[in-house]
Amino acid sequence: MRSSYDAIIIGAGVIGTAIGLELARRGLKTFNVERHPAAGYGSTSSSCAIIRCFYSTVAASAFALEGYHYWKNWSEYLGVEDERGLARFRETGCLVLKTEANGKLKALLERMQEAGVAYEEWSRSAIGEKLPFWDLRLYAPPRLPEEAGFGEPDGAEIEGGVFFPQAGYVSDPQLATHNLQRAAEAAGAKFRFNSEVGAILKDEQGKIGGIALKTGERVQAPVVVNAAGPHSAKINALAGALDDMRITTRALKREVAHVPAPTPDYEACYFVTSDSDIGCYTRPETGNQILIGSEDPACDTRQWVDPDEYSRNFSEQVRNQVMRMAQRIPNLAIPGSIRGVVDCYDVSTDWTPIYDRSCVPGFYMAVGTSGNQFKNCVISGVLMAELIVACENGLDHDRKPMSLRGRYTGHVFNAGFFSRLREINSSSSFSVLG
Ligand SMILES: Cc1cc2nc3c(=O)[nH]c(=O)nc-3n(C[C@H](O)[C@H](O)[C@H](O)COP(=O)(O)OP(=O)(O)OC[C@H]3O[C@@H](n4cnc5c(N)ncnc54)[C@H](O)[C@@H]3O)c2cc1C
Repeated sequence: MRSSYDAIIIGAGVIGTAIGLELARRGLKTFNVERHPAAGYGSTSSSCAIIRCFYSTVAASAFALEGYHYWKNWSEYLGVEDERGLARFRETGCLVLKTEANGKLKALLERMQEAGVAYEEWSRSAIGEKLPFWDLRLYAPPRLPEEAGFGEPDGAEIEGGVFFPQAGYVSDPQLATHNLQRAAEAAGAKFRFNSEVGAILKDEQGKIGGIALKTGERVQAPVVVNAAGPHSAKINALAGALDDMRITTRALKREVAHVPAPTPDYEACYFVTSDSDIGCYTRPETGNQILIGSEDPACDTRQWVDPDEYSRNFSEQVRNQVMRMAQRIPNLAIPGSIRGVVDCYDVSTDWTPIYDRSCVPGFYMAVGTSGNQFKNCVISGVLMAELIVACENGLDHDRKPMSLRGRYTGHVFNAGFFSRLREINSSSSFSVLG
């Protein structure tokens, strides 16, 4: 191992590994440092890894559409073999219900047209045919099981929904990260595992000089990138980079349930769903299970935590979201002991990521991924690599934001959309939907 690189990336989750790959392909000598024993063992390993292109703004939707194309062309993008095999994108599509809560999707469909995202409108009877085990009555607002009115339909029925064919999921997000690692290594990138960053080094002018590991070992580089996931705020504090940030980040505990699927062919034949009437999303899960997550309705208490000190046990939350889903799927089998995952999102003020430089020369951040950026890992890596190269060559990105043309969609992205200095994105859902 060298002791000096062109860029150090803190974290080898799906975002940090993609940044390492894209920088290495631009000829930089990169070093991803990760405290876990392998790439993608942090919050990425718990990701539901749902790929979809609908977001609360045209910019975010177009960005996700660009990201989707990298999954469609995964093998070609990687350009290398992985001894563990390649992660698979299961393009199942995603059904979003039209509800009062999402304005019957009217505004969303206008955004989809502008962003070039494909969709089909489904009537209530079409939904009933595709999902014969669903109860199509409405239950809003989402409630806790012990609240009055829980499980009591309001008399109306689902009006319809919108099916997005360019959607699905990656069944193994850790493997996808390993694939990126192998591609990065083929481009010359280096990785160090079981190593924790304890300090960020600066020279006398305050410019980045490298990192110190907790062992005391020092590694030099003029560029350091924060891709530390739920630890992002701690790394920003270490770098002294918090001062000018209008948008900040913090860790939010999340619980996701895996319960037996309602039909024997669920994993093979069904798709992702988003149901704001009951505040849950689902997708098929390996072993013919159904994965159930929360869409952050008001009845769910947000559990903000210290990512180094929180319980990885389930709370009542997981049962609440499974019970809500059982309103839609009355024959859902709810085990006495629910299985699934507990982990953290790294949530930004407006649930939109920060892909940006910082007030510390040479220090960059790809943080605040807010439970919705697995899908965008590669396009985020591309954006960060372009940004770092441009800023290190003198671009004043804060005053004159960089733009980036999507290789697949041709869409021109204004990278200022992801700035730490932006006004809060008031169009955001302020939830995992972004
Ligand atoms: C339960 C859950 C469900 C999700 N579902 C979806 C979904 O369906 N679709 C979607 O698009 N997104 C989803 N996401 C979000 C997505 O998974 C994340 O945005 C993405 O994985 C974040 O990747 P990352 O590399 O930034 O973070 P991480 O994977 O957490 O990687 C950061 C790494 O930094 C390391 N690190 C931290 N501090 C240090 C240090 N001091 N020294 C060394 N290493 C350090 C950590 O060990 C960690 O491995 C979900 C997330 C969760 C938690």
